[in-house]
Amino acid sequence: MKDSCMKRITIAIDGHSSCGKSTMAKDLAREIGYIYIDSGAMYRCCTLFCIEQGLVRADGSIDAEGLEARMGEIHVSFRLNAETGRPDAYLNGVNVEQRIRTMEVSSHVSPVAALPFVRAAMTAQQQAMGREGGIVMDGRDIGTAVFPDAELKIFVTASDEIRAQRRYDELIGKGEAADFDEVLANLRERDRIDSTRAVAPLRQAEDALVLDNSHLTIAEQKQWLLEQYHRLTDEYVH
Ligand code: C5P
Repeated sequence: MKDSCMKRITIAIDGHSSCGKSTMAKDLAREIGYIYIDSGAMYRCCTLFCIEQGLVRADGSIDAEGLEARMGEIHVSFRLNAETGRPDAYLNGVNVEQRIRTMEVSSHVSPVAALPFVRAAMTAQQQAMGREGGIVMDGRDIGTAVFPDAELKIFVTASDEIRAQRRYDELIGKGEAADFDEVLANLRERDRIDSTRAVAPLRQAEDALVLDNSHLTIAEQKQWLLEQYHRLTDEYVH
């Protein structure tokens, strides 16, 4: 085995809401034995904290001052779920994997994630998690702000309607009440806020490879991603 085969790189997967980034990132990490970190789950945990601690006002706005004073009380971690084989998110030691995926959290997460002090705290934690390499992290600013030197950067997208349909099917599959138009409006609004915020907006890194997966199956997407990984790490067996 060549030396380059042993190199554990950093893989950044960014893109629009609900384009299947986490599915592809999780599958890739499992396949190549890397750690997977869902950075969106960390912003969702901060949002759940706001909801549970009365930091979301009646008009839906966030009490940013109140949240900033309590940022030190938010500890996010991930632990492997033996049943699913995937990591679950924990907020202050409690498994919140289900609770952070609701429409309520989705509808408040982008304003919370736009707050500079929230980004600073989460970015520092993400950089600490990826210090040793051997990590696949997905989000919005991983290749641009968190790991600008990542060896492999992917920018994923798909049409709005296809993304909304996937998200809608996922919610229905989990037994949640969901309305297609509400899901579509939510993802468009999140993309708008995520792309226009002042700090670390969602954008494609100049050196990212673009993947439009509108018409790809999960298997085709996985194959493409593995090829990019093997091409870089020189392990590809022809
Ligand atoms: O990836 P997911 O859709 O779960 O992310 C939820 C939200 O968290 C996004 O809409 C975005 O507002 C925020 N986010 C972010 N930066 C990241 C990951 C997620 O701002 N790196």
